[in-house]
Formats: sequence, C-alpha cells, structure tokens
Amino acid sequence: MQYALAMPALRPRQQKAVDDLRAAYRAGRDAVVLVAPTGMGKTATAAEIIRSAISRGNPVWFLAHLQEILLDTSRRLTSEGIQHGFIMAGMPSDPTAMVQVVSVQTAARRPILSKPALIIIDECHLAVAKTYLRVIEAAGNPKLLGLTATPERLDRKGLNELFDHLVPTCSTRDLIDEGLLSSLRYYAPSLPDLTNVRDRGGDYDEGDLAEVMDQPTITGDAIAAYRKYAQGRPAVAFCTNIKHATHTAEAFAAAGFRAVAISGKSTAGERKHALEALKAGQIDLVANVGLWVAGVDCPNIGCVILLRPTKSVTVYLQSIGRGLRIHQDKDDLVVLDHAGNVFEHGMPDEPREWTLEGRRKRKGQAAPPVRQCPACFAAHAPAPVCPCCGHTYFVAEREGPRIVEGELLEITSEVAQKIRKPHPAAGCKTYEDLVQRAREKGYSDGWAKHIWQARQRKKLKTA
Ligand SMILES: [Zn+2]
Repeated sequence: MQYALAMPALRPRQQKAVDDLRAAYRAGRDAVVLVAPTGMGKTATAAEIIRSAISRGNPVWFLAHLQEILLDTSRRLTSEGIQHGFIMAGMPSDPTAMVQVVSVQTAARRPILSKPALIIIDECHLAVAKTYLRVIEAAGNPKLLGLTATPERLDRKGLNELFDHLVPTCSTRDLIDEGLLSSLRYYAPSLPDLTNVRDRGGDYDEGDLAEVMDQPTITGDAIAAYRKYAQGRPAVAFCTNIKHATHTAEAFAAAGFRAVAISGKSTAGERKHALEALKAGQIDLVANVGLWVAGVDCPNIGCVILLRPTKSVTVYLQSIGRGLRIHQDKDDLVVLDHAGNVFEHGMPDEPREWTLEGRRKRKGQAAPPVRQCPACFAAHAPAPVCPCCGHTYFVAEREGPRIVEGELLEITSEVAQKIRKPHPAAGCKTYEDLVQRAREKGYSDGWAKHIWQARQRKKLKTA
C-alpha cells in the first residue's frame, strides 16, 4: 500500500464521526448509517474508515447503482489518494485492488471472486433493498456503512431493511453557521392547488402533478421570480416530467435566458454537457426531472427552483442540497419554491430527527415552523423581522400562516389573503402613528391602544 499524498487531518467533527462509527461496530452493530449533511465531509470521513480497514488487510467495496454516483465516488477516492478498481461494465477491472467501486447491476451478474469485509453504500437512501440485499448476501454479508444526508427513501420508506443503526453527525444549520455551507434566502412566491392530485407510491401522482404545475402562469411566476431574486445566478429547476422540463426550458429561453432541459431520456453525453455548461457559466438554467437529486456536484449553483411538489422530505432536501455548496462566485443560495414544499417540510435548515423507520418526528407540532413575509414572499423560521427584507411583523401576523397536512387549500387562500392585504398596522412605528392610522381607517382609538399594548407585552416577553 502506498499513499503518495499526505492526507489532511480530519476536522474534529469528522474525527468524532469516525470514533462514533467504530464504537457502533464494536458494540455489535453490523449495518450502520452515517447521517451527514452535504458539506460535512463524508468522503473524508469514509476515507479514514477505508484506510484503517485496508491497513488491516480488509477489502472494501463502494456499492451503488447509478453511474453518476459510481463515477463521482471514484473521483472522490482519487482525490483522497485511495487507489481502487472497478466492478462495473465499461470500466477497467483490477482484482488486486483492496478498494473496489462496484455497480450493483454488474455485481449481480458476475461471480464474486474476492469478498469484501466492508461495503459502503453512498447515497444509501437510493438503495433498493431487494437488489442490494442479493448482492450483499452474495458478497458474504460483510459489515455495512451507509452514507446519506437524508435517511429516508424517496418512497418515504425507512432504511431498516438494510441497516440496524443510525449515527448522527451535525445539522445543516451548524454547517451554515460555520461557513461550510452557503446561507440561503427562501422565497415561496406561489402555492399550487394540489386538491385533485392523487397519491402514487408514497408521493404525488406525476401525471396529475404535471397538469397542475405545467401551466404558463406558474412558469411565468418562476421566470418573474428568477428575474427579481436570482438574475445572473446559475440555476437548476426541478420539474414534474419531461414535457414540463422542456416547457420550462423553452419559456426561460423565450424570456432571454440560456436554458436546457434534461431527463432520464437524455443521453449520458447530454447530461454531462448540461452539467459542464452550467459549471462554466455558459447556460443560466438546467430544468431537470429527478436526475439531479444526488451525485451532481456543481458548487456554483446559486438558485434552486422548485416546480415539483413532493411528499418526500428526501427529494425536497436533496434538491435544495444541490445549491448549498459554497463557491467563490456566490454569497448565498436563493431558493424559489413554486411548489409549496416549504409548507409541507419546513425550512431546509430546520433541525430534524431521523429514525430508521423513515418517519421523522416534529416535536409537538403538526405544522412546520415556517413564516411567510407578506412584503417579499420570503419563507423563514419564525422571527420578529423578515431576514430577507426587514419587514417587521406585528402580533397578529406572528401567528401564521399555519400549514397543516390535508388543509393546504384552505390555508393557501389564507396565505394569499395575507400576501394581498398588509396588516392594518403595517408601517406604524409609534403610538401616534397607530392613532393616525386608526383615524384614516375609521377605527376607534381603542384599536390603536390595543395594538400598542400588545406590542409592549411582546417587547417585555422578548426582552
Ligand atoms: Zn420580507
């Protein structure tokens, strides 16, 4: 074994993750998931586990079924100075390498000659239990290490078919606060009406969704919001189906932006070209269908446009995660949510508790703690002042909007009303202002007094 490169020391958080993983295996766990948000440095963490495994003569596999992830893994291993072979169609095999990057499909077809002591499954929320279990069994049931930011499958099932233990690390918020991830501004300028959208396989029916979302009004809103909040930022849009992605790209192009659409039907070359062009700043927007939910590393993405409502918190967080990497050319990430996802799943940096059963619990609350600014449409965690435009909330506004599952339509109109109609006390700073406003509106002086007293009580409470 030779390591040509001197490896940088692990950050304290990564070292702790390594220690926690070792402790879990020592305690008899066989299949452990490391929950690591984008930016935590899971590659560096996994690399340390790999180095210590191979230094004791234990071979390691990296297992995945998507070409993007396998190639991304290989690139990351190389950057960590870890030599590896492939068990993957079209890639050079090297049976003597202690580390193998393994395609599930290829491993299922070929006889397994040398069995690994550890299998690492990156983006393990994408692992389809049955197929993976077959390969894992054929490989002699070695220890498993899953890596993901969101330990819940896209169909909202848990990971307990493959894994028996979760090791948490840190939150997205921690990484934003430390400058390791981009901060974000979140706007929800429109809310779709999903009343007639049926369920299918744990998420919304895609055909029904396309009917609601693939509409000139929504696409027009998205273009207007991009102009207003994100002009000039490399953007990725998440759409409901191929036609919708194509229509979105066409509409952006008609509005003067450089836009392309990609989907599972695009060739590998087209997909790669779209990514490279966005990275190089040659295009403004890539409209895609479910492709860029993982395994795509394009740190200069400065705007994520959500045009696909989803019931899956994993789809939601992974989509936004594409824009959270830091990059010299951006100050922050702008999220434009035209799908109402923030009201279903909460802010992307909201603290979350994960379980292997796939149901995260929100402590004592049915609705996510999200507030929407009536002045600029920003969605944010409850605060007395809008972090995006500085709008100061008044007591009545601080209560809502509350979005709870199954009541989206009703609440939607409530939100819409709030957006159209500012609070009658908006802009009043002093008691005199309130009295003046009361006269203008024909309210009694008692109204001004009531608002003023409520504000004083609030001040006392927060002082
Ligand atoms: Zn605002």
